[in-house]
Amino acid sequence: MADEGDKNANWRFGATEEIQLATLARVAWVEQQQREPLAPLLDMSKENEVESDAATNVLDVLAETSHGDLLKRFLDRLAEVFAREKEPINFVSCTAMVEQEDGATIFVSRNKKLVKHDDKFSRNLAVCLEKLSRGSFYVRKVDHNLIIVSDVGNHEQESQLWELLLVFYEKRIEYNIRQFLHGMRSSAQGRSLSVAKEGDTVGDFAKLQSDCQQFRAGNKSLAGSIVKSANDLARAVDIKACLGRSIRQGRIESTLELLRFLGRLRLAYDTILDAAKRFASFSQVTIIFVETPIVSNPRASLEQAMGVIDACYKTGGMKLPSWITERVPHSKFKKFEVALGQPLHVHAEVQMLFFLLHADRGDLQPLPYLGVSKKTCLLCGYFLENFSRFGARRNHGKIYPNWTLPRQARLQKEYPTCMNAAIRSLMVSTASLALDRDQSKLNMVKESDAAPSTSSGMNPTTDSAVDHLRRQYHERFARERNAKWLENLG
Ligand SMILES: [Zn+2]
Repeated sequence: MADEGDKNANWRFGATEEIQLATLARVAWVEQQQREPLAPLLDMSKENEVESDAATNVLDVLAETSHGDLLKRFLDRLAEVFAREKEPINFVSCTAMVEQEDGATIFVSRNKKLVKHDDKFSRNLAVCLEKLSRGSFYVRKVDHNLIIVSDVGNHEQESQLWELLLVFYEKRIEYNIRQFLHGMRSSAQGRSLSVAKEGDTVGDFAKLQSDCQQFRAGNKSLAGSIVKSANDLARAVDIKACLGRSIRQGRIESTLELLRFLGRLRLAYDTILDAAKRFASFSQVTIIFVETPIVSNPRASLEQAMGVIDACYKTGGMKLPSWITERVPHSKFKKFEVALGQPLHVHAEVQMLFFLLHADRGDLQPLPYLGVSKKTCLLCGYFLENFSRFGARRNHGKIYPNWTLPRQARLQKEYPTCMNAAIRSLMVSTASLALDRDQSKLNMVKESDAAPSTSSGMNPTTDSAVDHLRRQYHERFARERNAKWLENLG
């Protein structure tokens, strides 16, 4: 399959490069999957004002617009909704948007093919958003000025939106209820909550548990009230004290997290409703699906992979680890060997980026933000950062062994050069991840934000300047070490 295909493609990701990148990512993954998560672009632009470039500040432009923050949350929440299944495959989706005065076009990509169910939901959602948007604005005259006033209630449409979301998200609600009940069982300390009064947190929590059990016993109509109640409870000021009555101390945080996941759809509803009422462009909505992500199967031989690793370590001036030379521990080598035989995937956010930059969509002008259903992985994070055209929510810092890019594309003419530069940087970063064996053990970072307390799930308290500096230092070091290796790639 190597180099046949679209003769019109003006950009290609060669078979050799694909194998190089995948091999390095796999070595890094075997060494340690969890790495230091990337700082959000928004925070970086604040700390880097002096050396800021067009790249870091595309997001600032969005942040300055009056509804930029809501737009970002809307895109993230909508992506979460499209990730409507967790088992057997964990759906991951990405959203983007083009906003014009007379309408909005929303794009959706996903790691799992979009089917009829998604299509039906999208058509109904578009109608719902339009009605809410049109019904929400009226014009009032104040001192000869026309003022547009929004937020007029439209209860029928609001409950239609809620029903629509509940049906679409059914499987994930079921999954969340199962997880919640399981968590409660394994964290219980043997006391029951039967002392509860109606209407206080303890009483509501006891009712939620019993509703979840009834749901499991077949009363599916409780889904809506369960989700609503879980969302309210997760936000109750005394929820931790309440959980402490029936749950072991060490399990309170994880149970609270399960509660937040259970209530998550209600947050999505609130955000979508808010956006529909506030954005006049939603009076005309089109939702378009991006084609299914490409799966690539380069079938790199062990010899080819070893060649890449050898070159990388030699130029880095480092000895190969013993799991490669002597296959000790064998488990690491086995893990690597199995990964070699697996196909490579284009993640939803990368798929979206290539779709938006296609030559046929030159006049599209999408907003510079991609909504994602969970935080971006490390390689997507590097790639988006290097490419510097779209921002996304936070990064979870994990390396996936089967990450790749599309093999070819017909891009708008200004992009092939930046794309190649972005991939070059990505290659350097991935090589440094593969060489870096001195990682201190990092705790696994959660991939989803169940509680987006601040906008787009960005949490300023954890993205300290110290973390950022440490990363900058690490990157500079890595770049110096790998510059030579890159030259040898030819
Ligand atoms: Zn990714």
